[in-house]
Amino acid sequence: MSRYWSKVVQQLSPYVPGEQPKLDNLVKLNTNENPYGPSPKVIEAIQTELGDNLRLYPDPASEQLRQTVADYYGIQAEQIFVGNGSDEVLAHLFNALLKHEQSILFPDISYSFYPVYCGLYGIDYKCVPLADDFSLKVKDYLQPNGGIIFPNPNAPTGQLVSLVDIEWLLENNTDSVVVIDEAYIDFGGESAVKLIDRFPNLLVTQTLSKSRSLAGLRVGLAFGHVDLIEALIRVKDSFNSYPMDSLASVGAVAAFEDKKYFESICNKVIESRQKLADELTQLGFEMSPSSANFVFARHAQRDAGELAAALRGHGVIVRHFKQDRIEQYLRITVGTDQQNKVLLEALKSILASYVSS
Ligand SMILES: *Cc1c(COP(=O)(O)O)cnc(C)c1O
Repeated sequence: MSRYWSKVVQQLSPYVPGEQPKLDNLVKLNTNENPYGPSPKVIEAIQTELGDNLRLYPDPASEQLRQTVADYYGIQAEQIFVGNGSDEVLAHLFNALLKHEQSILFPDISYSFYPVYCGLYGIDYKCVPLADDFSLKVKDYLQPNGGIIFPNPNAPTGQLVSLVDIEWLLENNTDSVVVIDEAYIDFGGESAVKLIDRFPNLLVTQTLSKSRSLAGLRVGLAFGHVDLIEALIRVKDSFNSYPMDSLASVGAVAAFEDKKYFESICNKVIESRQKLADELTQLGFEMSPSSANFVFARHAQRDAGELAAALRGHGVIVRHFKQDRIEQYLRITVGTDQQNKVLLEALKSILASYVSS
């Protein structure tokens, strides 16, 4: 704290991202990055773009990227907003669409950045508890609100809300914006992007960080009615008119064009997730079915915090949240089969050491 800080800064409680360790021989299963690299076509596109043109500002409207994504989904470019990672897109939409008189609603167990944005922008919020099995019941959101946001599949639980339930919510909640944060949708869900023509209060966000292996490039998207998109553009152009750099733009275009590569790595992650879940079950873990690129598991006998610390000793990092209701869970990113094997071997040896002690 310094006397030079503004009141706003004094009151912030910033988001704490998962650790990005400096050691490179660790098996890193803590931040839901893709274990496979980006499409070779992405690397090629960025290499081609690298040159004298970097002296120029990028296209402030990212027309080429928006058109590519529009063609991919069969929608209009005007229905798409792009930003420097979906965290930036989320920051803008909290400011542009969720700041109203009434409190906004999101699940008690959810992406922990949401309350941080509320703190930054002075937005009141109310947490809606997930059911005991961590499923999200859309009818719980039928109450006065200034907006609704949840990830689908939810993080860190991995559970999916069906598109039918989302439609039902949109039909019954028409006076505020409903944001579906689809950071993990490509690992097993059906996107709500196809609903944006029918519901003028639906905004869907996505990221290239997870399913397209581009967390380092920082590209996020929002989809919705042109009026919602215009609100985001107004905030962007009052903040930073050039959020998408030239390299990120061409890389993102190439990522959407290489659908075959994208589908093949998503399928690999989905297959490995099933194997990992089966093996964890055999080791005494319990978990609900995941539609994301991670599993959310608790051991029937062992403390999650202790397990996470012991795993770190074996060079494997997973995410443990010291939060009410989930302090006995570990969120484990699905790695390559080789990485998952290292995790499982480490767990076997940790659990065996308990038995013998
Ligand atoms: C990872 C994640 C994001 C942020 O993604 P970036 O595009 O890398 O900023 C947003 N929402 C959820 C639920 C996430 O897990």
